[in-house]
Amino acid sequence: ESFLRVEGVSKHFDQFTALNHVSFDMKKNEFVCLLGPSGCGKTTLLRIIAGLDQPSNGQIYVNGKDITSLPPAKRNFGIVFQSYALFPNLTALKNIEFGLKTKKYPKKQVREKALEALELVDLLHVKDQLPAQLSGGQQQRVSLARALALSPDFLLLDEPLSALDAKVREKLRYEIRSIHERIGIPTIMVTHDQEEALTMADKIIVMNHAQIVQSGTPSEVYNHPNHPFVADFIGSINFINQQPNERDVVAIRPEHIRVTDDTGVLSTVENVEFKGPIYRLMVKIIEPSSFLFQQQVKVDISAHLAHSLNIKKGSQLPITL
Ligand code: ADP
Ligand code: MG
Repeated sequence: ESFLRVEGVSKHFDQFTALNHVSFDMKKNEFVCLLGPSGCGKTTLLRIIAGLDQPSNGQIYVNGKDITSLPPAKRNFGIVFQSYALFPNLTALKNIEFGLKTKKYPKKQVREKALEALELVDLLHVKDQLPAQLSGGQQQRVSLARALALSPDFLLLDEPLSALDAKVREKLRYEIRSIHERIGIPTIMVTHDQEEALTMADKIIVMNHAQIVQSGTPSEVYNHPNHPFVADFIGSINFINQQPNERDVVAIRPEHIRVTDDTGVLSTVENVEFKGPIYRLMVKIIEPSSFLFQQQVKVDISAHLAHSLNIKKGSQLPITL
């Protein structure tokens, strides 16, 4: 029942290894995010799945069939990039019709399918406008409609929201996700934005240095990272040395540290960042009897608590890790 299987895929560009033995499975109807820092190989992997690049080693299976050597035109995917790549001289509707005409759909179906796709992204009212007359978010929705109009078997999105403003990005996260749910299309989205992956994905595949480090549900990778890289890349974390010169570390998220009355270790507030609902404090532990002595720790506390304790730079604060 796996829809897509990537098996032992490597990609070398001369001496450089862009993908090193990458394997994962994806179920039908799943929304998968490839998450990792810039340069870790996400786009390369997406291009190989699309057939735009050939792997140096490994196989791609769709519904159990080896498609590794199939050309892109025979893979039936829709793809959306960060840049909207719309024809500037064609209206929203004509941009979508263009792809359908290229695929030799009958004339009547071209109009019908293009309108249907525009309706799906809620843009029927701007069908006759040129890209320049549309906002960035609208242009990206036209790109998405263009990809979906061809009734692809799966959807590939390469950082589709990265060029948009924060507010628009948040709205489109939700819209893309609900379109996915309505039409149930298997989707792989590349992103370097951990919050985007956490909010949108059924499954997150965390990559670093050409390899998969961990894959799991958003709550699995957030709450049970299997590697310090994952803990640090997804969210914020404190690594605390338990013993000097010991390699074991304790990792604790800033939101899991509590401010206590007098039973905790004493710390001094060195920095205070207002983040709206919370404050992010940087504290230094000063309790000399503690092995944590002099460690710097990020602590998140509710704005409410910060106000009632009147916390500012220099405040002293007992905390419990
Ligand atoms: P990401 O999408 O995660 O930012 P990419 O997959 O685009 O990363 O690239 C991974 C690495 O492979 C980068 O270091 C990039 O420079 C290199 N790379 C990608 N495509 C090519 C290519 N055609 N030739 C040489 N190196 C490439
Ligand atoms: Mg990329």
